[in-house]
Amino acid sequence: MSETYELNRKHMVESQIRNRGVKDKRVIDALLKIPRDLFVPEIDKIHSHHDGPLSIGYGQTISQPYIVAYMTELLELEGDERVLEIGTGSGYQTAILAEIVKQVFTIEVIKHLANSAEKLLINQLGYSNIHFKIDNGREGWTQYAPFDRIIITAASRAFPEALFFQLTENGIAVAPVGNFFQQLVQYKKKDGQIREKILIGVSFVPLI
Ligand code: SAH
Repeated sequence: MSETYELNRKHMVESQIRNRGVKDKRVIDALLKIPRDLFVPEIDKIHSHHDGPLSIGYGQTISQPYIVAYMTELLELEGDERVLEIGTGSGYQTAILAEIVKQVFTIEVIKHLANSAEKLLINQLGYSNIHFKIDNGREGWTQYAPFDRIIITAASRAFPEALFFQLTENGIAVAPVGNFFQQLVQYKKKDGQIREKILIGVSFVPLI
């Protein structure tokens, strides 16, 4: 079965990711490597490379592969960054980040999701550069701030203000913003000022 999943993964990366313009080699390599099937519930495993989000229980979803790849590319990672992620969910995006950067700090508000992601990422996959927190991520993680990059994988009406203060100078943040109609926004901090770039329309579960 794992060979089938590996083939599905290659096909997913070719048809959904490269074909739609994602070029960053670090991102492509991480998507080729991480076994996405491990991050979806048993019942949906055969659909784990499907071109869309899938349910992970508790009313939450694992994001569409393309969206994971595109958001990661928008973070413009080079490898030595410390990244804050809000919305661990299945832990799939967390694993992609952990493959590329030095340290990942991830916050999830639903205890069961946080615990199962931690078990998978630490015990099963052996990552040692991921730090977990069960909390509302809107306030960030002051103990470890500032972060070179911040990624939010749930949508809010506006980017949570407190998080801008936890972004380093020259830092980049990416988040879906909006209520029903959401847009993916990339934020860059220069000279203490935030500049935003609105990208594509998206559909995320709400940030609590
Ligand atoms: N990147 C995840 C996306 C999961 S969906 C994946 O691909 O699996 C978004 C997640 O954000 C959900 O797990 C939800 O519980 C979590 N979430 C929502 N509001 C939050 C908040 N205020 N703080 C932390 N996590 C939150």
